[in-house]
Amino acid sequence: MLAGAQLPGGPPVATDINDYLLAPLRVHLLSAKESPDISTTLTGKDIARILGKVNRVWAQAGLHFYLESLAQEEAVNPELFLAHKGPAERFALLSLRPEETKGSNLFHVYCLKHMTVNGIYLNEAIFVKDTASLREVEGGMDEPLPRVTSHELGHAFGLAHRQDETNLMASGTTGIWLNEGEVRQVREQAKQFPWVEPASAVRQKADEWARTGNPREAEALYQRLAALATAVNGPPTESKRESPATKAASGTQRTGR
Ligand SMILES: [Zn+2]
Repeated sequence: MLAGAQLPGGPPVATDINDYLLAPLRVHLLSAKESPDISTTLTGKDIARILGKVNRVWAQAGLHFYLESLAQEEAVNPELFLAHKGPAERFALLSLRPEETKGSNLFHVYCLKHMTVNGIYLNEAIFVKDTASLREVEGGMDEPLPRVTSHELGHAFGLAHRQDETNLMASGTTGIWLNEGEVRQVREQAKQFPWVEPASAVRQKADEWARTGNPREAEALYQRLAALATAVNGPPTESKRESPATKAASGTQRTGR
């Protein structure tokens, strides 16, 4: 299983970068003309910050989400959603999604301004609202959206609610912790998603592409691995570049970035 280390004041993190699982995430910023209840005011910068925090939570399970793409898009059927306030809104949420960006081979997070719940996982997609609010608990996340997003991703990986309030799967708190059983369950469930790949497999594929004359495809994967290494080890510095974990992560990367 994962080797773990406890950061002071933070969650335990996986220490072997090759054990990390890389998962593609498409984030959709929804808008709708004259519907302030739908139009998110989140920006790409917000999403980068949120994703950084999501990845610090999921480092506990050696799981890393990379932004496959950021779609700024007009919601479809806004009137249907606006007509279904309250518990019935979940049935209308999925109909907000534009057809072109649905894709079934990755995880989706849709951001909108208001709905009844903070976030919801609906198999095909996760929805979160800008205006999410949570009950603060000790050691919890410092802003709601990364916690809400991380919690819903927990459902996507098969986790049920667990009302230990500092736990990631508690309802409505800022808790972020996972226990060993949950970590095991998530990593087992990840095998059900062919698009979730171990870092070692991504590196093999990158090396293969580099060898077979696909430098651009190879480079994209090396960059993905470099971003993982930065998330896990911090930004590369002279001393850190020498650390075995960073070396392992950069592998045969030759770009020197
Ligand atoms: Zn939940």
